[in-house]
Amino acid sequence: MKTSFSDYVNERKRQGLYRSRRLLDGAQKPLVTIDGERFLAFCSNDYLGLANHPKIVAAFKQAADIYGVGSGASHLVIGHSRVHHELEEALAERVGRDRALLFSSGYMANMGVINALAGRGDHVLEDKLNHASLLDGALLSNAKLQRYFHSDPSNLEKRLQQLNADGERLVVTDTVFSMDGDVAPLASISSVCQQHGAVLMVDDAHGFGVMGGGGAGAVNAAGLSQQDVPVLMATLGKAMGTAGAFIAGSEDLIDYLVQKARTYIYTTALPPAVAAATLESLRIVSDESWRQEKLQHLIKRFRLGAHDLGLALMESKTAIQPVLVGTSEMATGMSDALQKQGVLVTAIRPPTVPKGSARLRVTLSAAHSEEDVDILLSAFENVLK
Ligand SMILES: *Cc1c(COP(=O)(O)O)cnc(C)c1O
Repeated sequence: MKTSFSDYVNERKRQGLYRSRRLLDGAQKPLVTIDGERFLAFCSNDYLGLANHPKIVAAFKQAADIYGVGSGASHLVIGHSRVHHELEEALAERVGRDRALLFSSGYMANMGVINALAGRGDHVLEDKLNHASLLDGALLSNAKLQRYFHSDPSNLEKRLQQLNADGERLVVTDTVFSMDGDVAPLASISSVCQQHGAVLMVDDAHGFGVMGGGGAGAVNAAGLSQQDVPVLMATLGKAMGTAGAFIAGSEDLIDYLVQKARTYIYTTALPPAVAAATLESLRIVSDESWRQEKLQHLIKRFRLGAHDLGLALMESKTAIQPVLVGTSEMATGMSDALQKQGVLVTAIRPPTVPKGSARLRVTLSAAHSEEDVDILLSAFENVLK
């Protein structure tokens, strides 16, 4: 029990771990206004630049005229509107699954699904670098949680072999790791799971919209079917530019979750207008594939420039391009120095990442221009001097 809030906060400040928020005026886009000052931001997960897309905004407004603002209740009580249902069908179709189920956020989807699938006496095996919501889901479930070595199917296999025969086995991994940007070896993990009778769940928060045909995600890009990856989760607040999340899988899985997932049952449905806006996002993602292509181009440009500057890049081909720094103080110092030059990059520190691996998490978006990337690179160059 924390007896003194201020002691805790002061200690965090002393360690360079204090968390604070920037107050943004206006929409999410590369050029943001904070306290009347303009900054070029490389922190958002709006990878395709859709959070402020006029057509998506228009769809949102139009739906608000029809459906109002609030959904009024949970999906099971009276909050499940036609537009929610249409979105579920469109999402299922996009990712090539039987059905999809909408959740209000990715955090809630992960908590709800893991708790519905695993309980006392079961085993949950997670990649060491999985997102916090996946770990929290397993902790709350009372299942036995093991964390296997990062992106290491043979370590996963060894752990599965050592389990006793009792209980269900659920293996959970991010597709694209949120603080590193690398992609899990999904095909190998899937085959290990199938050989050892484990159910595989993947979190495609950073792949959906950006990777795969029509933005169908990292699982689609890896060519894995519903049988290979029976539980597929993705979020709508990142590349899709709206809000919420979904789980996709078999008819039976979705029916089961409707009965069992507490974060689905006991919460108010997303505003229907958010669902309508997301339907428009889905259309734009497949119609405007130039967004994915432009993003890839900017990623290459950034990596080349950063390499020339001698920045410590990570093994990432995705929009998440962290620059490893080391200590929390150094990361915060660099982030502040970049900010003084008008460039925003968030410092990510422990416990979000392992000790000694504090980093600047650069994220790129199709909404950035080549010039924006060059400005970022020269800001880094000045900071290094
Ligand atoms: C952002 C994120 C989530 C949480 O999704 P929200 O919709 O923001 O709650 C879950 N998993 C991963 C890997 C994420 O990056």
